[in-house]
Formats: sequence, structure tokens, C-alpha cells
Amino acid sequence: KLNDCLEQSRAQVRRLRASLEKSREKEMRDPMTNLANRRFFENRLAREIAEAQSGGAPLCLVLLDIDHFKRVNDTHGHIVGDDVLRYFATILTNNVKGRDLAARYGGEEFALILPATRIPQARALCSHIMEQLEQSRLVISQGKHPIGKLTASFGIAQYRSGDQPDCLVTRADEKLYEAKNSGRNRIAAEA
Ligand code: GH3
Ligand code: MG
Ligand code: MG
Repeated sequence: KLNDCLEQSRAQVRRLRASLEKSREKEMRDPMTNLANRRFFENRLAREIAEAQSGGAPLCLVLLDIDHFKRVNDTHGHIVGDDVLRYFATILTNNVKGRDLAARYGGEEFALILPATRIPQARALCSHIMEQLEQSRLVISQGKHPIGKLTASFGIAQYRSGDQPDCLVTRADEKLYEAKNSGRNRIAAEA
């Protein structure tokens, strides 16, 4: 009887562990896009910065923002807007690998943490994402209304020794602002 009890408790511990693991994983994801959420992003960025500081490997941060996204909502409604966000997230997910992280920074703004990456490689990755956006012809399945071209603007900054996470975010954000102000659908990167 004691053995049965013990086995039952063990099984319960296993179930609890699995469910704890699941809820931890869930806590770190944006439910709409399934990308890393802001909290996940911030944890990872702090970790990668510490790593870059101690190991000396390069590190890039990209902030990207969908162009004129408000129009998508205004023209087609929020449900379609949500679908477009999920589509955009899929493109990002398909373009990151290994230790890279794609995150939903907030609203229609996203971030890519790119360890072991310098500006030219980060730029190439962003160009690739731009091309994939360019090629997509989004159409609403009911009624076949075209959504029109989906574009985004990109800001890239590279880690400098001694940078705090918010320094790097601010510099990437400045570059994103530059990309927006110089016409959108483009990449602005630190020299
Ligand atoms: P810009 O090119 O300057 O970035 O223009 P924009 O229209 O993309 O930017 P703006 O900041 O004016 O509008 C962002 C819009 O994104 C407004 C907001 O309603 C929408 N948005 C943010 N989060 C969500 C979401 O989860 N779902 C939907 N459908 N829309 C969202
Ligand atoms: Mg936008
Ligand atoms: Mg925005």
C-alpha cells in the first residue's frame, strides 16, 4: 500500500512539474503571435549583453515596426490586423535561427536579438525579411479583398563595450526613427 502511495505521489510530482514548465513557457510568450514577449526579450537581452561583454563576441539588436499599420486596422478591422501581425511574426520566426531571438516588443513593434552578428550581417537579414514582405500579397480570404503591400522599417544597433541594455535599445530605436522619417520601408543602421 505504501508503495502504491509513493508511486501515486511520484506521478503527481511529474504532472505538476510538467504543468509548471508549461506555464513558465507560456509566461514568456506573446499569446497572439507566440513570439517571445517583452519580459522574455528583456531577460535575454540582459543575458546576451553580459555574454558579449565577457566573451567579446559582437551582438546586434534590431527594432522593427510595421509601416502604417493603423491603416490596416482602419481599413479592414482589428481582426484582420491581428492576422497580419501573426503573419508578420511568422516571417520573423522563419528568419531567425540558433541563439537569435524574435520578440514582440509591443503593439506592431518587434525586436531581433542577434548574437555573434555584426551590422553587415544584421542588415542582410533585415533585407531578406524586407524581400519576403515585398513578395507577400495578403488577401482577405472572404471576398478576396487585397490588403495591399505590407512593409516595415528597421533600426539596427551594435553592442558597444559597457552598454547597458537600455542604451542599446535606445540606439536601435533612434535608428528606427531615422528609417521611419526618411521614408519607411527601409533599414537604418549604425555605421
Ligand atoms: P508608422 O508607419 O509610423 O509606424 O505608422 P503606424 O500606423 O504603424 O503607427 P501608429 O503608432 O500610428 O499605429 C500603430 C497601430 O497599431 C495602432 C494600434 O491600434 C495598432 N495595434 C497595436 N497592437 C495591435 C494589436 O495587437 N492588434 C491590432 N489589430 N492592432 C494593433
Ligand atoms: Mg508602425
Ligand atoms: Mg509603432
